[in-house]
Amino acid sequence: MNAVDIIIKKRDHLELSKEEITFFINGITNNEIPDYQTAAWAMAIMLNGMTDQETTDLTLAMAHSGQVMDLSNVIPIEVDKHSTGGVGDKTTLVVEPTVAACGLPVAKMSGRGLGFSGGTLDKMESIPGFRVSLTDEEFIHLLKTTGLVLAGQTADLAPADGKLYALRDVTGTVPSIPLIASSIMSKKIAGGAQAIVLDVEVGLGAFMRNLDDAKKLSKLMVAIGRLSGRKVVACLSDMNQPLGNAVGNALEVKEAIETLHGRGPQDFREHCLEVASHMLVIGEKADSLKTARKLVTETLDSGKSWEKFRMLVQNQGGDVDCVDHPEKLPLASLIETVPAPLSGYLHEINAQIVGETSVELGAGRVKKGYPIDPAVGIIILHKVGDAVKAGDPLFVIHANDQKKLAAAKERLLGAHVIQAQKCDPLPLFYGVIK
Ligand code: URA
Repeated sequence: MNAVDIIIKKRDHLELSKEEITFFINGITNNEIPDYQTAAWAMAIMLNGMTDQETTDLTLAMAHSGQVMDLSNVIPIEVDKHSTGGVGDKTTLVVEPTVAACGLPVAKMSGRGLGFSGGTLDKMESIPGFRVSLTDEEFIHLLKTTGLVLAGQTADLAPADGKLYALRDVTGTVPSIPLIASSIMSKKIAGGAQAIVLDVEVGLGAFMRNLDDAKKLSKLMVAIGRLSGRKVVACLSDMNQPLGNAVGNALEVKEAIETLHGRGPQDFREHCLEVASHMLVIGEKADSLKTARKLVTETLDSGKSWEKFRMLVQNQGGDVDCVDHPEKLPLASLIETVPAPLSGYLHEINAQIVGETSVELGAGRVKKGYPIDPAVGIIILHKVGDAVKAGDPLFVIHANDQKKLAAAKERLLGAHVIQAQKCDPLPLFYGVIK
Protein backbone atom coordinates (compact mmCIF):
# COMPACT_ATOMS: atom_id res chain seq x y z
CA MET A 1 0.00 0.00 0.00
CA ASN A 2 1.23 3.51 -0.64
CA ALA A 3 -0.05 7.06 -0.15
CA VAL A 4 -0.08 8.03 -3.85
CA ASP A 5 -2.36 5.14 -4.84
CA ILE A 6 -4.77 6.06 -2.06
CA ILE A 7 -4.84 9.72 -3.16
CA ILE A 8 -5.42 8.67 -6.79
CA LYS A 9 -8.23 6.32 -5.78
CA LYS A 10 -10.06 9.13 -3.96
CA ARG A 11 -9.31 11.54 -6.82
CA ASP A 12 -11.01 9.06 -9.16
CA HIS A 13 -14.17 8.88 -7.01
CA LEU A 14 -13.53 5.33 -5.77
CA GLU A 15 -14.42 4.13 -2.28
CA LEU A 16 -11.45 3.59 0.07
CA SER A 17 -11.23 0.46 2.19
CA LYS A 18 -10.84 0.52 5.96
CA GLU A 19 -7.24 -0.73 5.55
CA GLU A 20 -6.37 2.10 3.15
CA ILE A 21 -7.85 4.77 5.44
CA THR A 22 -6.10 3.30 8.49
CA PHE A 23 -2.81 3.16 6.54
CA PHE A 24 -3.12 6.85 5.65
CA ILE A 25 -4.04 7.95 9.17
CA ASN A 26 -1.20 5.93 10.70
CA GLY A 27 1.15 7.55 8.18
CA ILE A 28 -0.03 11.03 9.20
CA THR A 29 0.31 10.20 12.90
CA ASN A 30 3.83 8.78 12.56
CA ASN A 31 4.97 11.58 10.21
CA GLU A 32 5.62 8.99 7.50
CA ILE A 33 3.27 10.68 5.04
CA PRO A 34 4.44 14.22 4.18
CA ASP A 35 2.14 17.22 4.50
CA TYR A 36 1.81 17.69 0.72
CA GLN A 37 0.33 14.22 0.30
CA THR A 38 -1.97 14.67 3.28
CA ALA A 39 -3.14 18.01 1.85
CA ALA A 40 -3.76 16.43 -1.58
CA TRP A 41 -5.75 13.63 0.06
CA ALA A 42 -7.81 16.13 2.09
CA MET A 43 -8.58 18.08 -1.09
CA ALA A 44 -9.64 14.89 -2.89
CA ILE A 45 -12.02 14.12 0.01
CA MET A 46 -13.26 17.72 0.04
CA LEU A 47 -14.09 17.57 -3.69
CA ASN A 48 -15.32 13.98 -4.06
CA GLY A 49 -16.78 13.24 -0.63
CA MET A 50 -16.84 9.99 1.30
CA THR A 51 -19.45 7.31 1.92
CA ASP A 52 -20.82 6.90 5.47
CA GLN A 53 -18.70 3.77 5.83
CA GLU A 54 -15.52 5.59 4.74
CA THR A 55 -16.28 8.49 7.10
CA THR A 56 -16.85 6.06 9.97
CA ASP A 57 -13.57 4.26 9.19
CA LEU A 58 -11.78 7.63 9.06
CA THR A 59 -13.34 8.67 12.37
CA LEU A 60 -12.33 5.46 14.13
CA ALA A 61 -8.80 5.51 12.69
CA MET A 62 -8.34 9.10 13.93
CA ALA A 63 -9.93 8.30 17.31
CA HIS A 64 -7.43 5.44 17.76
CA SER A 65 -4.41 7.43 16.56
CA GLY A 66 -3.64 8.24 20.22
CA GLN A 67 -4.92 7.61 23.72
CA VAL A 68 -8.54 6.44 23.99
CA MET A 69 -10.01 7.25 27.38
CA ASP A 70 -12.22 4.78 29.16
CA LEU A 71 -14.07 6.21 32.11
CA SER A 72 -16.45 3.27 32.50
CA ASN A 73 -14.95 2.31 35.85
CA VAL A 74 -15.24 5.91 37.08
CA ILE A 75 -18.80 6.89 36.03
CA PRO A 76 -21.76 4.76 34.89
CA ILE A 77 -22.17 6.53 31.52
CA GLU A 78 -20.12 9.25 29.87
CA VAL A 79 -22.37 11.82 28.26
CA ASP A 80 -20.81 14.66 26.32
CA LYS A 81 -21.94 17.66 24.34
CA HIS A 82 -20.21 19.35 21.43
CA SER A 83 -21.04 22.49 19.57
CA THR A 84 -19.84 22.78 15.99
CA GLY A 85 -18.85 26.39 16.70
CA GLY A 86 -20.64 29.71 16.86
CA VAL A 87 -20.55 33.32 18.03
CA GLY A 88 -21.48 34.06 21.65
CA ASP A 89 -21.87 30.35 22.34
CA LYS A 90 -21.10 29.97 26.03
CA THR A 91 -23.56 27.07 26.40
CA THR A 92 -21.07 24.69 28.06
CA LEU A 93 -20.65 27.07 31.03
CA VAL A 94 -24.31 26.70 31.94
CA VAL A 95 -25.21 23.27 30.55
CA GLU A 96 -22.41 21.22 32.13
CA PRO A 97 -22.95 22.43 35.73
CA THR A 98 -26.71 22.02 35.29
CA VAL A 99 -26.43 18.45 34.00
CA ALA A 100 -23.93 17.60 36.76
CA ALA A 101 -26.24 19.17 39.36
CA CYS A 102 -29.02 16.90 38.04
CA GLY A 103 -26.86 13.93 39.04
CA LEU A 104 -25.30 13.03 35.68
CA PRO A 105 -21.49 13.31 35.93
CA VAL A 106 -19.83 15.39 33.22
CA ALA A 107 -16.23 15.06 32.03
CA LYS A 108 -15.80 17.76 29.42
CA MET A 109 -12.83 18.18 27.13
CA SER A 110 -13.13 21.50 25.36
CA GLY A 111 -11.26 23.42 22.69
CA ARG A 112 -10.01 26.92 22.07
CA GLY A 113 -11.48 29.48 19.70
CA LEU A 114 -11.36 28.66 16.01
CA GLY A 115 -11.59 31.47 13.47
CA PHE A 116 -14.43 33.78 14.45
CA SER A 117 -16.02 31.22 16.78
CA GLY A 118 -15.07 31.34 20.46
CA GLY A 119 -13.74 28.47 22.56
CA THR A 120 -14.73 27.33 26.05
CA LEU A 121 -11.13 27.10 27.31
CA ASP A 122 -10.40 30.73 26.42
CA LYS A 123 -13.59 31.81 28.18
CA MET A 124 -12.86 29.86 31.37
CA GLU A 125 -9.27 31.16 31.42
CA SER A 126 -10.60 34.71 31.78
CA ILE A 127 -11.29 33.65 35.39
CA PRO A 128 -7.89 34.32 37.04
CA GLY A 129 -6.14 31.11 38.08
CA PHE A 130 -8.54 28.67 36.35
CA ARG A 131 -6.51 25.68 35.13
CA VAL A 132 -7.56 23.79 32.00
CA SER A 133 -4.45 21.56 31.88
CA LEU A 134 -5.03 18.73 34.30
CA THR A 135 -3.13 15.50 34.77
CA ASP A 136 -5.05 12.27 34.10
CA GLU A 137 -5.08 11.66 37.86
CA GLU A 138 -6.53 15.10 38.63
CA PHE A 139 -9.12 14.69 35.89
CA ILE A 140 -10.30 11.34 37.22
CA HIS A 141 -10.15 12.43 40.86
CA LEU A 142 -12.33 15.50 40.21
CA LEU A 143 -14.79 13.50 38.14
CA LYS A 144 -15.08 10.82 40.79
CA THR A 145 -15.39 13.16 43.76
CA THR A 146 -17.37 16.07 42.31
CA GLY A 147 -19.03 14.80 39.10
CA LEU A 148 -17.80 17.76 37.05
CA VAL A 149 -14.50 18.48 35.33
CA LEU A 150 -13.63 20.75 32.40
CA ALA A 151 -10.23 20.46 30.73
CA GLY A 152 -8.38 20.95 27.47
CA GLN A 153 -7.67 18.05 25.18
CA THR A 154 -4.35 16.35 25.78
CA ALA A 155 -1.92 16.31 22.83
CA ASP A 156 -2.33 12.57 22.68
CA LEU A 157 -6.08 12.67 22.11
CA ALA A 158 -6.80 11.99 18.40
CA PRO A 159 -3.40 13.43 17.30
CA ALA A 160 -4.11 12.58 13.63
CA ASP A 161 -7.04 15.01 13.76
CA GLY A 162 -4.77 17.68 15.23
CA LYS A 163 -2.35 17.35 12.30
CA LEU A 164 -5.00 17.02 9.63
CA TYR A 165 -6.95 19.95 11.05
CA ALA A 166 -3.92 22.25 11.04
CA LEU A 167 -3.36 21.40 7.36
CA ARG A 168 -7.04 21.79 6.45
CA ASP A 169 -7.00 25.22 8.04
CA VAL A 170 -4.42 26.43 5.50
CA THR A 171 -5.40 24.44 2.39
CA GLY A 172 -9.03 25.44 1.93
CA THR A 173 -10.33 22.06 3.12
CA VAL A 174 -12.17 22.94 6.34
CA PRO A 175 -15.78 23.06 5.07
CA SER A 176 -16.01 19.41 4.03
CA ILE A 177 -18.87 17.53 5.66
CA PRO A 178 -17.03 14.15 6.02
CA LEU A 179 -13.89 15.90 7.30
CA ILE A 180 -15.81 17.97 9.87
CA ALA A 181 -17.89 14.97 10.98
CA SER A 182 -14.84 12.74 11.43
CA SER A 183 -12.86 15.51 13.15
CA ILE A 184 -15.56 16.12 15.76
CA MET A 185 -16.59 12.50 16.28
CA SER A 186 -13.01 11.18 16.51
CA LYS A 187 -12.34 13.52 19.45
CA LYS A 188 -15.57 12.56 21.18
CA ILE A 189 -14.88 8.83 20.76
CA ALA A 190 -11.25 9.19 21.91
CA GLY A 191 -12.56 11.07 24.95
CA GLY A 192 -14.60 7.99 25.84
CA ALA A 193 -18.09 9.45 25.28
CA GLN A 194 -20.83 6.83 25.07
CA ALA A 195 -23.65 9.29 24.45
CA ILE A 196 -23.23 12.64 22.71
CA VAL A 197 -25.47 15.66 22.19
CA LEU A 198 -24.32 17.69 19.21
CA ASP A 199 -25.26 21.32 18.88
CA VAL A 200 -25.02 21.81 15.12
CA GLU A 201 -25.12 25.51 14.48
CA VAL A 202 -26.29 26.85 11.16
CA GLY A 203 -26.19 30.32 9.67
CA LEU A 204 -23.95 33.29 8.97
CA GLY A 205 -21.79 32.73 12.08
CA ALA A 206 -21.31 28.96 11.65
CA PHE A 207 -19.32 26.57 9.45
CA MET A 208 -22.62 25.24 8.07
CA ARG A 209 -24.21 28.13 6.21
CA ASN A 210 -27.48 26.48 5.21
CA LEU A 211 -29.94 24.08 6.75
CA ASP A 212 -29.45 21.37 4.10
CA ASP A 213 -25.71 21.13 4.86
CA ALA A 214 -26.34 21.23 8.61
CA LYS A 215 -28.83 18.35 8.24
CA LYS A 216 -26.35 16.37 6.14
CA LEU A 217 -23.61 16.89 8.72
CA SER A 218 -25.96 15.95 11.57
CA LYS A 219 -27.19 12.79 9.86
CA LEU A 220 -23.65 11.75 9.15
CA MET A 221 -22.49 12.24 12.75
CA VAL A 222 -25.55 10.36 14.03
CA ALA A 223 -24.76 7.53 11.57
CA ILE A 224 -21.11 7.43 12.69
CA GLY A 225 -22.34 7.22 16.27
CA ARG A 226 -24.62 4.31 15.40
CA LEU A 227 -21.92 2.45 13.44
CA SER A 228 -19.47 2.89 16.31
CA GLY A 229 -21.90 1.96 19.09
CA ARG A 230 -22.53 5.46 20.54
CA LYS A 231 -25.82 7.24 21.01
CA VAL A 232 -25.88 10.59 19.23
CA VAL A 233 -28.55 13.31 19.09
CA ALA A 234 -28.00 16.41 16.96
CA CYS A 235 -29.87 19.66 17.71
CA LEU A 236 -29.89 22.05 14.76
CA SER A 237 -29.62 25.57 16.14
CA ASP A 238 -29.63 29.05 14.68
CA MET A 239 -26.36 30.93 14.34
CA ASN A 240 -27.37 33.79 12.07
CA GLN A 241 -27.24 36.20 15.01
CA PRO A 242 -25.03 35.78 18.12
CA LEU A 243 -26.33 33.57 20.92
CA GLY A 244 -27.27 35.68 23.96
CA ASN A 245 -25.90 39.23 24.08
CA ALA A 246 -22.24 38.89 25.04
CA VAL A 247 -19.38 38.07 22.66
CA GLY A 248 -15.86 38.03 24.13
CA ASN A 249 -14.34 35.92 26.86
CA ALA A 250 -14.88 37.61 30.27
CA LEU A 251 -18.10 39.20 28.98
CA GLU A 252 -19.43 35.75 28.11
CA VAL A 253 -18.44 34.37 31.52
CA LYS A 254 -20.39 37.24 33.13
CA GLU A 255 -23.43 36.43 31.00
CA ALA A 256 -23.17 32.74 31.88
CA ILE A 257 -23.02 33.67 35.59
CA GLU A 258 -26.13 35.85 35.19
CA THR A 259 -27.88 32.90 33.55
CA LEU A 260 -26.75 30.55 36.32
CA HIS A 261 -28.43 32.97 38.74
CA GLY A 262 -31.71 32.57 36.86
CA ARG A 263 -31.35 35.77 34.87
CA GLY A 264 -29.49 36.22 31.57
CA PRO A 265 -30.80 36.61 28.00
CA GLN A 266 -33.91 34.58 27.24
CA ASP A 267 -32.59 33.00 24.00
CA PHE A 268 -29.41 31.81 25.69
CA ARG A 269 -31.27 30.39 28.71
CA GLU A 270 -33.71 28.53 26.40
CA HIS A 271 -30.83 27.19 24.32
CA CYS A 272 -29.08 25.85 27.44
CA LEU A 273 -32.25 24.25 28.84
CA GLU A 274 -32.88 22.46 25.53
CA VAL A 275 -29.33 21.07 25.20
CA ALA A 276 -29.22 20.06 28.89
CA SER A 277 -32.60 18.28 28.53
CA HIS A 278 -31.30 16.21 25.62
CA MET A 279 -28.25 15.28 27.69
CA LEU A 280 -30.43 14.00 30.54
CA VAL A 281 -32.52 11.88 28.16
CA ILE A 282 -29.54 10.41 26.28
CA GLY A 283 -27.78 9.83 29.63
CA GLU A 284 -30.88 7.99 30.92
CA LYS A 285 -31.46 10.41 33.81
CA ALA A 286 -34.90 11.28 32.44
CA ASP A 287 -37.34 9.18 30.45
CA SER A 288 -38.67 12.00 28.28
CA LEU A 289 -37.72 15.47 27.13
CA LYS A 290 -40.64 16.85 29.15
CA THR A 291 -39.41 15.32 32.43
CA ALA A 292 -35.86 16.38 31.61
CA ARG A 293 -36.93 19.96 30.89
CA LYS A 294 -38.72 20.16 34.26
CA LEU A 295 -35.66 18.83 36.09
CA VAL A 296 -33.11 21.11 34.38
CA THR A 297 -35.34 24.18 34.82
CA GLU A 298 -35.81 23.47 38.54
CA THR A 299 -32.09 22.82 38.93
CA LEU A 300 -31.11 26.06 37.21
CA ASP A 301 -33.71 28.13 39.07
CA SER A 302 -32.87 26.61 42.48
CA GLY A 303 -29.26 27.84 42.31
CA LYS A 304 -27.84 24.29 42.20
CA SER A 305 -26.31 24.84 38.75
CA TRP A 306 -24.61 27.97 40.04
CA GLU A 307 -23.24 26.09 43.07
CA LYS A 308 -21.78 23.43 40.73
CA PHE A 309 -20.19 26.06 38.52
CA ARG A 310 -18.69 27.79 41.56
CA MET A 311 -17.34 24.46 42.79
CA LEU A 312 -15.83 23.78 39.34
CA VAL A 313 -14.03 27.13 39.41
CA GLN A 314 -12.75 26.50 42.94
CA ASN A 315 -11.61 22.92 42.22
CA GLN A 316 -9.60 23.98 39.19
CA GLY A 317 -7.79 26.85 40.89
CA GLY A 318 -9.98 29.73 39.71
CA ASP A 319 -10.47 32.85 41.83
CA VAL A 320 -13.95 32.30 43.28
CA ASP A 321 -14.13 35.94 44.37
CA CYS A 322 -14.19 36.89 40.67
CA VAL A 323 -17.23 34.73 39.95
CA ASP A 324 -18.97 35.77 43.17
CA HIS A 325 -18.34 39.38 42.14
CA PRO A 326 -18.14 39.29 38.31
CA GLU A 327 -17.29 43.00 38.21
CA LYS A 328 -13.82 41.81 39.33
CA LEU A 329 -13.33 39.80 36.09
CA PRO A 330 -11.02 41.45 33.52
CA LEU A 331 -12.54 44.73 32.33
CA ALA A 332 -11.59 46.73 29.23
CA SER A 333 -10.38 50.32 29.59
CA LEU A 334 -12.64 51.74 26.85
CA ILE A 335 -16.38 51.05 26.95
CA GLU A 336 -18.62 52.76 24.42
CA THR A 337 -22.34 52.42 23.84
CA VAL A 338 -23.30 52.94 20.21
CA PRO A 339 -26.81 54.23 19.39
CA ALA A 340 -29.09 53.06 16.57
CA PRO A 341 -28.59 55.31 13.54
CA LEU A 342 -32.27 55.07 12.52
CA SER A 343 -35.63 53.76 13.68
CA GLY A 344 -37.13 50.54 12.37
CA TYR A 345 -36.93 46.78 12.85
CA LEU A 346 -33.79 44.68 13.06
CA HIS A 347 -33.65 42.35 10.08
CA GLU A 348 -30.12 41.07 10.58
CA ILE A 349 -27.35 41.05 13.19
CA ASN A 350 -24.67 39.33 11.16
CA ALA A 351 -23.04 36.82 13.51
CA GLN A 352 -19.99 36.38 11.29
CA ILE A 353 -19.21 40.11 11.33
CA VAL A 354 -19.80 40.26 15.10
CA GLY A 355 -17.48 37.27 15.61
CA GLU A 356 -14.77 38.68 13.35
CA THR A 357 -15.00 42.10 15.03
CA SER A 358 -14.59 40.49 18.42
CA VAL A 359 -11.43 38.73 17.15
CA GLU A 360 -10.13 42.05 15.75
CA LEU A 361 -10.67 43.66 19.17
CA GLY A 362 -8.38 40.94 20.56
CA ALA A 363 -10.86 38.37 21.92
CA GLY A 364 -9.68 35.67 19.47
CA ARG A 365 -6.46 34.66 17.77
CA VAL A 366 -5.31 35.86 14.37
CA LYS A 367 -2.58 33.21 14.39
CA LYS A 368 -2.27 29.87 16.17
CA GLY A 369 -0.94 30.23 19.73
CA TYR A 370 -1.29 34.04 19.85
CA PRO A 371 -2.37 35.49 23.21
CA ILE A 372 -5.89 36.83 23.55
CA ASP A 373 -7.32 39.72 25.55
CA PRO A 374 -9.91 38.33 27.99
CA ALA A 375 -11.53 41.72 28.65
CA VAL A 376 -12.54 42.89 25.18
CA GLY A 377 -15.69 42.11 23.25
CA ILE A 378 -19.16 43.25 22.36
CA ILE A 379 -22.58 43.35 23.99
CA ILE A 380 -25.32 43.14 21.38
CA LEU A 381 -28.42 44.71 22.92
CA HIS A 382 -31.11 43.43 20.55
CA LYS A 383 -32.35 40.42 18.62
CA VAL A 384 -33.56 40.12 15.05
CA GLY A 385 -37.24 41.21 14.96
CA ASP A 386 -36.84 43.88 17.69
CA ALA A 387 -38.07 47.42 17.07
CA VAL A 388 -35.37 50.05 17.63
CA LYS A 389 -35.57 53.83 17.83
CA ALA A 390 -32.91 56.16 16.43
CA GLY A 391 -30.62 57.18 19.28
CA ASP A 392 -31.43 54.18 21.51
CA PRO A 393 -28.45 52.01 22.56
CA LEU A 394 -27.78 49.35 19.88
CA PHE A 395 -24.56 47.69 21.11
CA VAL A 396 -21.67 48.26 23.52
CA ILE A 397 -17.99 47.85 22.62
CA HIS A 398 -15.38 46.87 25.22
CA ALA A 399 -11.91 47.68 23.84
CA ASN A 400 -8.38 48.33 24.98
CA ASP A 401 -7.31 50.28 21.91
CA GLN A 402 -8.92 53.43 20.53
CA LYS A 403 -8.26 52.61 16.85
CA LYS A 404 -9.68 49.12 17.20
CA LEU A 405 -12.72 50.57 18.93
CA ALA A 406 -13.38 52.98 16.05
CA ALA A 407 -12.99 50.21 13.47
CA ALA A 408 -15.27 47.89 15.47
CA LYS A 409 -17.96 50.57 15.63
CA GLU A 410 -18.05 50.87 11.83
CA ARG A 411 -18.14 47.12 11.25
CA LEU A 412 -20.82 46.50 13.89
CA LEU A 413 -23.06 49.26 12.55
CA GLY A 414 -22.79 47.47 9.18
CA ALA A 415 -23.69 44.16 10.83
CA HIS A 416 -27.03 45.56 12.06
CA VAL A 417 -29.56 45.82 9.24
CA ILE A 418 -32.49 48.07 10.23
CA GLN A 419 -35.48 48.40 7.92
CA ALA A 420 -38.88 50.10 8.12
CA GLN A 421 -41.03 46.97 7.75
CA LYS A 422 -41.63 44.52 10.61
CA CYS A 423 -39.80 41.22 10.63
CA ASP A 424 -40.17 37.93 12.53
CA PRO A 425 -37.72 36.84 15.23
CA LEU A 426 -35.36 34.01 14.24
CA PRO A 427 -36.09 30.52 15.57
CA LEU A 428 -33.72 29.13 18.19
CA PHE A 429 -33.76 25.57 16.82
CA TYR A 430 -34.56 24.02 13.47
CA GLY A 431 -35.13 20.48 14.66
CA VAL A 432 -33.48 17.40 16.10
CA ILE A 433 -31.86 14.50 14.25
CA LYS A 434 -31.32 11.17 15.98
N1 URA B 1 -14.75 21.49 14.88
C1 URA B 1 -13.86 20.47 14.83
O1 URA B 1 -13.45 19.94 15.86
N2 URA B 1 -13.43 20.06 13.63
C2 URA B 1 -13.86 20.61 12.46
O2 URA B 1 -13.45 20.17 11.41
C3 URA B 1 -14.77 21.68 12.52
C4 URA B 1 -15.22 22.11 13.76
